[in-house]
Amino acid sequence: MRRDGPPSDAKTSPSDYTQGWVASRYVAGETLDDALAAVDRLNREGAAATLDVLGEDVTRREETGYFVDEYRRALAGIAERGLDSNVSVKLSAMGLKFDPELAWQNFREIAAEAKRRGNFVRIDMEDSSVTQSTIDLFRRARAEFDNVGIVLQAYLRRTQEDVARAIAERWPVRICKGIYVEPREIAFRDPDLIRRSYAYAADRLLEARIPVGIATHDEAMVVEALQSIERRSARREDYEFQMLMGVAVGLRRLIVRQGHRMRVYVPYGTAWRGYSLRRLKENPAIVRHVLAGMFRKEGAL
Ligand SMILES: Cc1cc2nc3c(=O)[nH]c(=O)nc-3n(C[C@H](O)[C@H](O)[C@H](O)COP(=O)(O)OP(=O)(O)OC[C@H]3O[C@@H](n4cnc5c(N)ncnc54)[C@H](O)[C@@H]3O)c2cc1C
Repeated sequence: MRRDGPPSDAKTSPSDYTQGWVASRYVAGETLDDALAAVDRLNREGAAATLDVLGEDVTRREETGYFVDEYRRALAGIAERGLDSNVSVKLSAMGLKFDPELAWQNFREIAAEAKRRGNFVRIDMEDSSVTQSTIDLFRRARAEFDNVGIVLQAYLRRTQEDVARAIAERWPVRICKGIYVEPREIAFRDPDLIRRSYAYAADRLLEARIPVGIATHDEAMVVEALQSIERRSARREDYEFQMLMGVAVGLRRLIVRQGHRMRVYVPYGTAWRGYSLRRLKENPAIVRHVLAGMFRKEGAL
């Protein structure tokens, strides 16, 4: 298969200052070396990482090869430098939206490489058009590999049923609120309902001793999870908190200081614009920080 070079949506100009600043805060850099250096800094701080090669919604078969190669390089780089990091993969970059069988073959290569290196692959969850196909591919992978995990999104109405299945089949789960814009019939819109769904799902997973990644920057959700951890007598190795690079750094350090495991999601690559835009949409207040950042340099990790 012909393998294209890296996808790029980055055509930086001085007027892109805001997006560029956002990218430098939320993205480790364009190269694997940049990403591994960020992981090294996080490890020294007491946090593990998960590497994400930026790019999604690939539409051509040839483009998917780049991601497979890059993930293999990332797994090799992590092993060579002895870093504490796994990888997170978007199946739409593997071809899921136009050829599920191709996505499976691509994912299988990455999972096998991770297995060979004693590492782990998390499948990120994307928009609701691929919820079921992502779970189907994950279950197929689970039949062959024990080093793969999935993400469930608390905003989806179906999620408590998926939690039940995750418990029955013992899937390693990352629970997050969910980041895509979904119709009301499919997803809760009310932030309070999403929080209740999140806290309930996390509690059920902790009670069942499913290896759970508690992915949130919402302090209320962190407190709920801490209560569940205590109530369910969860052991330190049963769960980890997870956060995105550059977000809620103070809260992250507090959690680490309290002795809990923490994993930071570290995206890298040339396709940084879409990711940065999503972060901007999620938190428009960031523009204020951009202005502040013009005058002082913050620790962005
Ligand atoms: C490790 C990890 C992996 C994820 N994987 C997925 C996935 O596979 N699929 C998916 O749909 N979603 C994923 N997400 C995103 C997730 O679904 C939420 O959209 C995101 O985490 C925001 O929700 P929250 O729980 O942090 O709560 P919120 O209520 O959104 O945020 C809590 C607080 O954090 C601050 N905050 C949140 N985001 C930002 C930001 N970007 N910049 C600055 N401050 C911010 C807010 O201002 C707020 O004060 C992931 C999140 C994390 C942390």
